[in-house]
Amino acid sequence: MSAPLHKPRPAGPGRALPDTQQGMRRRNLARVMHTVSAEGPLSRAAVASRIGLTRAAVSTLVDELIRSGLLEELGPERPGRVGRPGSALAVSGHGPAGIGAEVGVDHLSVCAVDLRGQVRARAVRHVPNRDRPAEPVLRELTELIHRVAAEAEGEGLWPAGLAVAVPGLVARDARTVVRAPNLGWLDTDLGHLLPARFPLTVANEANFGALAELWLGEDTPRDFLHVSAKIGIGAAVVVDGRLLHGTRGFAGELGHVPVWPDGPACACGGRGCLEQYAGEEAVLRAAGLDGGEDRVGLLAGRAEQDDAGVRRALHDAGTALGIALTGAVNLLDPESVVLGGALSGLAPWLLPSLRSELARRTAGPACPVSVSTLGPEGPLLGAAHSVIRGVLDDPAAVAERA
Ligand SMILES: [Zn+2]
Repeated sequence: MSAPLHKPRPAGPGRALPDTQQGMRRRNLARVMHTVSAEGPLSRAAVASRIGLTRAAVSTLVDELIRSGLLEELGPERPGRVGRPGSALAVSGHGPAGIGAEVGVDHLSVCAVDLRGQVRARAVRHVPNRDRPAEPVLRELTELIHRVAAEAEGEGLWPAGLAVAVPGLVARDARTVVRAPNLGWLDTDLGHLLPARFPLTVANEANFGALAELWLGEDTPRDFLHVSAKIGIGAAVVVDGRLLHGTRGFAGELGHVPVWPDGPACACGGRGCLEQYAGEEAVLRAAGLDGGEDRVGLLAGRAEQDDAGVRRALHDAGTALGIALTGAVNLLDPESVVLGGALSGLAPWLLPSLRSELARRTAGPACPVSVSTLGPEGPLLGAAHSVIRGVLDDPAAVAERA
């Protein structure tokens, strides 16, 4: 399977497959999969009318998808419908699974998602990864991947690919971490360090978080900025339902947008970057607190108890976010800004100053700011779902490998 995140192509079916009879067949297989996935269970006749092909043509495609284990027949439709009863089709709950993984500064997590979008297996390990070499980190991640894959296989699923979210810049080859400052990794090819049995895609965690929001969020628009924070602050730009990558794949580094040019030095080499005011550690420092495992929980707990220092630190972080986002909003005119990751847990105290700063400084009407409902698991889910989207986009390629 091609790298779904980095190769430029339209979302959904109809991406550039060869314009031959084989290419047409593959495109039509994708259209059937996308239709049943979005609207199923559906009869063959309903699929045919949705995609504008004859019932006979759809039946041939459906038979192929059933043989490949990608679609299932649920049995006869309920009586009372006009015409000959057909069997309802659904995407298979025993077919391919997407394995998603996340390397965090203080955790590793892996999950398996089936074609229906259900999480069927997961594993999480809390482990301090800061400045830890890639080899031992990925050895530990590989253990978790094997464990989750085995659990998924035990449920009759077969892993179709692996997607890994990392807190750093990833090259357009979708394998090489160019720089992950909080892990201390430079130019590291993860392809050599992860199980070779799965097609691999590596991407920045903010990009996977934004895709999760696009695919799984409630009423997510097609044009939005997704901002998430842990130690660092990442953003992803979604334009017309597609990620904006930039020339090298590094678009979205909101955390290194300068907020106050003479501010504190940042690991990137600049000064006064947003991360120095609104990253988890910066907020803890400003509030006079030490970290610990659950930094967001600590900050939220203190803010709830009306701790004046914490409230002031969060208010200032919201102001810094508002200033940095003003530039992005004025430049890109998104429909909304979505706060995800750790920011979603701190939103009640960040939002007032963030919103007023944004409203004061943007040219047009204030851009709405909403909070992700996916919580901190967004990037992990986005990673696993990106594999599933790859299956829907080109089911023939997956069936050939099955
Ligand atoms: Zn910086």
